[in-house]
Amino acid sequence: MDRNLFASRERALRNQPFSPNSTEKGPRTRSATVVPSVCPYCAVGCGQLIYVKGGKVIDIEGNPGSPISEGTLCPKGANTFQLSVNPHRIKRVKYRAPYSDHWEDRPLDWAMERIAERVKEVRERDFMERRDRTVLNHLTTVASLGGATMDNEENYLIKKLFNGGLGILPIENQARI
Ligand code: SF4
Repeated sequence: MDRNLFASRERALRNQPFSPNSTEKGPRTRSATVVPSVCPYCAVGCGQLIYVKGGKVIDIEGNPGSPISEGTLCPKGANTFQLSVNPHRIKRVKYRAPYSDHWEDRPLDWAMERIAERVKEVRERDFMERRDRTVLNHLTTVASLGGATMDNEENYLIKKLFNGGLGILPIENQARI
């Protein structure tokens, strides 16, 4: 800003009837760390800015520097903060046993162990190395369906482990960013 313009603006502000309390007010994002990211909801891939203070996400807004969205977000993307910070978010593993009519809370370690056991069991049973003279090295009886809230790194690892490592063919994700 021009120095004279700045000085006259300062003078004008000094002459206004602002209380010290008002002049010290600022946006809650002031002094927050800003992390550029991508909206997790759909394949458009709009840019977001994530504001972090004291190790906690305090706000998520559109990123004006994004060549895709230029700071705009659709109503869903504009509510991404609620996805991250929400008291209703389920944080326990929910398990429903075969033929059961209700959900049970289980520890995460238990669920991970069970998934690994089931994948190993099915892979040992169904993995096809070849058909006739054609090399296949694939497994078609295990599938992975990802949600749009999974990030790029998680999708990269899923593709690398499930497809490259275990030979699983049916891998899909709602958001192909
Ligand atoms: S959900 Fe909306 S804000 Fe998010 S990437 Fe898609 S269009 Fe953009």
